[in-house]
Amino acid sequence: MIENLPSAEELEETALRIHFDAWHRTIGLIFDFSEAYQLEKGEEPESSDDYQEEWLEYLLGSQAEMGAICSSIQHSAELRLKSIICTVSPFLLLLNNSVPLKGGQTSLDFASLRTIDSVDLPNAVRTLSDFPLSNAFDLHFNELRRRRNQLTHLGVHQNNLTPNNLIQFMNTQYNFLWPDGRWLYRRTIFDGNSARRFFNDHRYASVETDVMIELATSIPRIANVDFKKMFGFKKSAMNIYCPNCMGLRATKWHSGGHPTAVQTGSKSATCLMCEQSLVLEDIAQEYTKCDSCETSMLVISTTTDADSLCSSCGEVLDPS
Ligand SMILES: [Zn+2]
Ligand SMILES: [Zn+2]
Repeated sequence: MIENLPSAEELEETALRIHFDAWHRTIGLIFDFSEAYQLEKGEEPESSDDYQEEWLEYLLGSQAEMGAICSSIQHSAELRLKSIICTVSPFLLLLNNSVPLKGGQTSLDFASLRTIDSVDLPNAVRTLSDFPLSNAFDLHFNELRRRRNQLTHLGVHQNNLTPNNLIQFMNTQYNFLWPDGRWLYRRTIFDGNSARRFFNDHRYASVETDVMIELATSIPRIANVDFKKMFGFKKSAMNIYCPNCMGLRATKWHSGGHPTAVQTGSKSATCLMCEQSLVLEDIAQEYTKCDSCETSMLVISTTTDADSLCSSCGEVLDPS
């Protein structure tokens, strides 16, 4: 028999981990530069007049690293396509390649068998599964394959890559391969820093804090049309603080937070990070007002006993 058959879930999880690891490294390139030159909050290295020369020099020195990130993005796509085929049957991954039966071994390890060539994966998904993979995906996939082959065979990457190019590649790919959106939820679950999760105590370290800090840098770099698909809402709609996610921040290290929820009805909201439903209540029912932003709604978690917050500034309010 064939042992160690891959599972669709495991392949998809690995694809997402590699995807968000690439994301984490890309945003890290921007963070490192901004930190070294102490750029003001909201100031982008690309548009900073003061450090144009340094930024270009930094990008030049980062080409090999960005080329490696490009390879990771392509690797993630391959695994995701394989996971889709695997939902039908893992044996379909062996199509077009011979399985060595002549030796008469009693068992074969799946990992030792040759699987469908990367170049054939998009069409294999279309033929073998009902996943709606757009034909436009091939252009993106072949471009990444070309860059990866260049890096693998020549060991160089001279394509004038920028972090924004990589972000665009990742978002395009995500929307083709995960058309159900849920980006922020998956970003938090499959963050590219799984080893660090060991240290997450929600006081000095937390993935919620890491992702919230990152959002301020990443949201302006995500095209509106991509954001709508990735998050399921317009950028401006994500303006409510979630009590659950705010409560999981590492407040001993970084007190900043970010809105992660959207209003879904006159009294209801949903958090795109934890996907829990929230209730909105007139702030005046329990408190005189929010000192930070004067008038607002109170947002209450329906699933945990997290402190209720002012929905528009995230402040925890003391009863009047
Ligand atoms: Zn949440
Ligand atoms: Zn407030």
